[in-house]
Amino acid sequence: FAVLRREDPEIASVLVDEVARQRDTLQLIASESFMSPAVLAALGSTLANKYAEGYPGERYYGGCDQVDRAERLAVDRARELFVAEHANVQPHSGAAANLAAYAALAEPGDVVLAMGLPYGGHLTHGSKANFSGKWFHPVSYRVARETEEIDYDEVRDLALAHRPKLIICGATSYPRLIDFARFREIADEAGAYLLVDAAHFIGLVAGRAVPSPVPFADVVTATTHKALRGPRGGMILCRSELAQRIDKAVFPFAQGGPMMHAIAAKAVAFREAGTPEFRGYANQTVRNARALAAGLAAEGMRPVTGGTDTHLAVFDLREVGVTGQEAEARCARAGIALNKNPVPYDPERPAVSSGIRIGTPSVTSQGMREDEMRRIAALITAAVHADPATEDGVRRSGEVAAEVANLVAAFPPYPRDDA
Ligand code: PLP
Repeated sequence: FAVLRREDPEIASVLVDEVARQRDTLQLIASESFMSPAVLAALGSTLANKYAEGYPGERYYGGCDQVDRAERLAVDRARELFVAEHANVQPHSGAAANLAAYAALAEPGDVVLAMGLPYGGHLTHGSKANFSGKWFHPVSYRVARETEEIDYDEVRDLALAHRPKLIICGATSYPRLIDFARFREIADEAGAYLLVDAAHFIGLVAGRAVPSPVPFADVVTATTHKALRGPRGGMILCRSELAQRIDKAVFPFAQGGPMMHAIAAKAVAFREAGTPEFRGYANQTVRNARALAAGLAAEGMRPVTGGTDTHLAVFDLREVGVTGQEAEARCARAGIALNKNPVPYDPERPAVSSGIRIGTPSVTSQGMREDEMRRIAALITAAVHADPATEDGVRRSGEVAAEVANLVAAFPPYPRDDA
């Protein structure tokens, strides 16, 4: 880092300020966590210099002996960790993994059945703004109005009516466990492939805190940078008979050269995710999300579906009288990073939204537990009620920011001199 500071002080100052932001404020974005220093070391390495189009032993460039070792380790560790017959660790992101999975399992114009964006689905699950909605024919399922959980009867009805080539489950803001066995049954009845997009919860699967989709899905796509605590990137798991189609869909169909530094970092993260410490983290992450959901529910913020089984929870703020957009801004002013989120059947535009989403992987990585979640629930409540248009609100927001700084100072994600 001393070199960067000398050679490019402008960028060095960005790095210093960002590590300070991550350390001095509260990180509750559900799709983020903290990579370990070992993962960061692999990521910031000279493996990034290497071109390695192809797969280990079958590259289009010379000099790939060392990066082949890294990719073989990453693949073997992913297969072992997730008990999968085949793993492809090259996707640059979760969206890139999904593009490859669509390419392997369907043709343009085919019907794809997935959760609609307003109910928790991802852009790659059929949004018109995305390849999935432009090149495929998306049919969306929702959640039940009453329970706000997936209505499996509706999914089955839609599957039998539209005969999709591909059914997708796995979401961006769905707090409950998904019944993979039920989805498998529906896919079999409709003659469809089942793709589980485990981007959000794959870290919890690795830590054995939630059930694995691997035994039920034809293909599982995932990100490596959320609760899994690896580098930004994607991954695909599948059965052996689909391995070749998946590999060809990643390269050469969807991508060029793999990012070998990221693949080495994924290998380190998979190794860490197999440890008892990681299992402790994954299980505590869920307990923390439950504690935070209960704490916020007691303050009048209604948890969508009534609670959570995972690392995230969504809260309906209509009773509080503050929009998701305003709540996000008020929390940001108080040093709390979280995001606005639509609630099911939200009357507000997505840019405004009636809810917020919180996630506990980051704070759990820092070592926080249920006691801290109770404090955080009180801090979020105070921040959401602090109206910046009033003098009292501005003062209260400042007080919360000071309390946040106090809390996080006791749980540093990285040692100070690593900055
Ligand atoms: N799939 C789901 C369910 C996600 O939540 C996300 C990201 O939030 C993605 C895919 C895409 O991941 P990435 O941002 O790495 O492209």
